[in-house]
Amino acid sequence: MIVFDLSCAGGHQFEGWFASSGDFEGQQSRGLVVCPQCGSAQVVKAPMAPAVPRKGNQLEPAKSSQVVAGGAIPPEAQAVFAKLAELQAETLKGSRFVGSSFAEQSRAIHYGEQPAEVIHGQATLEEARDLLEEGVAVLPLPFPVSPPEDLN
Ligand SMILES: [Zn+2]
Repeated sequence: MIVFDLSCAGGHQFEGWFASSGDFEGQQSRGLVVCPQCGSAQVVKAPMAPAVPRKGNQLEPAKSSQVVAGGAIPPEAQAVFAKLAELQAETLKGSRFVGSSFAEQSRAIHYGEQPAEVIHGQATLEEARDLLEEGVAVLPLPFPVSPPEDLN
């Protein structure tokens, strides 16, 4: 058995065990390798970084506890989730992760105190509601986003 670091179209990373490299490719081409977090079958081998020690929390499920799993997920739901994950990944390309300063920064952008750009990060429900009331364009993300490694 060999283990591969895999990632899906939604940017989730997880591990998969396979009999061989060919076994992985065979299963992947038949859509049998799916992301445990979003059900996306668009799974690729994550770039290997053997010189970098794994962070302890890398394999933890993302912050959300809303995980649906099992063999009975209707294919149309899987397709929708996969599409959502894809759209989210697309949306976040070129977006800057600002962590918990999201409310502050999106407000600054809205009022022209900071150059306009797409950002994403964390906000409480209350912060999000306040932003919406002020007319700041915010959008909840359907999938949890892990902070980039370099944001320490
Ligand atoms: Zn995923």
